[in-house]
Amino acid sequence: MPAELIDGVAVAKLVRADVARDTAALVARGVTPGLTVVLVGDDPASAVYVRAKEKACLEAGMNGRTIRLSADTPQADLLALIDTLNADPTVHGILVQMPPPKHIDPQAVILRISAAKDVDGFHPVNVGRVWIGEKSGFAPCTPAGVMVLLERAGVQVAGANAVVLGRSTIVGKPMTSLLVNASATVTVCHSKTKDLAAVTRGADILIAAIGRPEFVTADMVKPGAVVIDVGINRVDDASKEKGYRIVGDVQFSGVRDVASKITPVPGGVGPMTIAMLLQNTVRAATQGLA
Ligand code: NDP
Repeated sequence: MPAELIDGVAVAKLVRADVARDTAALVARGVTPGLTVVLVGDDPASAVYVRAKEKACLEAGMNGRTIRLSADTPQADLLALIDTLNADPTVHGILVQMPPPKHIDPQAVILRISAAKDVDGFHPVNVGRVWIGEKSGFAPCTPAGVMVLLERAGVQVAGANAVVLGRSTIVGKPMTSLLVNASATVTVCHSKTKDLAAVTRGADILIAAIGRPEFVTADMVKPGAVVIDVGINRVDDASKEKGYRIVGDVQFSGVRDVASKITPVPGGVGPMTIAMLLQNTVRAATQGLA
């Protein structure tokens, strides 16, 4: 029997409805949660993401603002802008769209954002808080979204053998900390892992976040496993109007026949990322009241 689909569009809609309700409660107390996104340069993909974030904020009843800076903006000017936003009480969340142009050090940017407004969850203070399981920390949106998908799909995480494919700062590592804190037994794989398929075949929950199109095949998956595909990859496809299609890191058609539950791409993890960003922003506004 093919795996049950975990519908990220539907779950993201539920999260966004919760966010809208929490936002309305804050507005009634005189506080409108506000997210400011800073976009440096004119990378077309980044511009699309930023527009989607602003639109989602407004739909939830929050203030969503984008500050666009030219690609040659000096790093010092960007850091000065972040200082201004850190001091602005109407701004609860600050996000600088990554990657910035080459002359800007992303780590300097991340360190400058107040940890209390770091709704991307990349500041080392939040990384630490999430690792030690402190609830005030902001977890990065994509892995946080995966945890919500697992929960809503009724997946038993505690005691499960989870394998995380990929160890990036934005997905693999925070995914690992969230799963450990949810009492999974976690193995992290990367490009130096030996006999990867033997490791992945031990997974009750397999999270693929490596950025390699359709890398995970059915023979790498234990029958009945839950498979979460974080990957977003473009592959050439002459049959499509745009000349490409989007696939995940998992070969969906084969793995679907082995797994018990699986996220599709698109429509799985992707929609959760913005939903969790909104949730983090509402939390930042709420924590600011304390
Ligand atoms: P990175 O390129 O930063 O990290 C990839 C990781 O995968 C690295 O740890 C790398 O290992 C590992 N890896 C690469 N090739 C192999 C291999 N052949 N075998 C084992 N491990 C390998 O990617 P990201 O974490 O940023 O993104 C991963 C995927 O998730 C991408 O497709 C990206 O587009 C997608 N993504 C989706 C989001 C969403 O909203 N759904 C958000 C963010 C990312 P090593 O460390 O040894 O180099």
